[in-house]
Amino acid sequence: MRVLIIEDEKKSASFIRRALQAEGFAVDAVHNGEEGLIAALTISYDAIVLDIMLPGRDGLSILRELRSKSNHTPVLLLSARGQVDERIDGLNAGADDYLPKPYVLGELAARVRALTRRSSGESRSVVLKLADLNVDTVTRKVLRAGQTIDLSTREYALLEYLLRSKGRVCGRMQIMEKVWDYDFDPGTNLVDVYIRRVRDKIDAGHARPLLHTVRGIGYVMKEQQ
Ligand code: CA
Repeated sequence: MRVLIIEDEKKSASFIRRALQAEGFAVDAVHNGEEGLIAALTISYDAIVLDIMLPGRDGLSILRELRSKSNHTPVLLLSARGQVDERIDGLNAGADDYLPKPYVLGELAARVRALTRRSSGESRSVVLKLADLNVDTVTRKVLRAGQTIDLSTREYALLEYLLRSKGRVCGRMQIMEKVWDYDFDPGTNLVDVYIRRVRDKIDAGHARPLLHTVRGIGYVMKEQQ
C-alpha cells in the first residue's frame, strides 16, 4: 500500500510519514500543491493525505482536478480546526474523509488504513482469508491452520498486499511500488528476499503452498499451483 502526503509543513509531513511507515505503508511526501497534483496523477496511490492550505495550488483545487480526471484515489483531507465550510467544500469536492488539525497521529494512521481498506475491494472485511491462512488487517494477527505467525512490519505489508490481490499475479515492480518507498534501488533483489522470508513463514511445513512464483512474471497467492 502506497500513500502520498501533500503537506507544506515539513515537520508535520515527516511525522505523518513516520507514523504511516510504522504501519507498513510505503510513503511519499511532497510539500507544495503543484508537485502534489503531478505526483497524484503520475503514480497509482492507495490513499492521499491532503492538506488544504498549500503553496502553489490549494488542497481543494487539487482534489477537484483529480476527480475531474476520474482519479478516485481515496483522499483524507486535513483541515484547520473549526473550518466547517472548508470541510463541507472538501466533501463536496470528493474527499473521502477529513481530519481537523491538530490531529492525533494514531487516528490519522487508522483513518488512512480504513480508506485503503474500503477502496481495496475487500470493502468491509477486515480479515483476509485464503485456505487456512487468516490475516486480520486491524490487529495484524496472521494465522495459518490456527498457528500464529510472527512477521516484521515489511513482511506483513508484503503479505497483505499479495493477499488483497489474491488470484492475480503481481510483478516485482508493482510489489516494489506498493510495499516500498521509492528511495530503494529497483535493481535490488529485495522483493525476492522478502518473498522468501514470507514464504518460509507461511508455507513451510504445510502440504499446500499458498504463495507461488510465476516464472519471469512475479508472484501470486492462490490455493492451487
Ligand atoms: Ca498547510
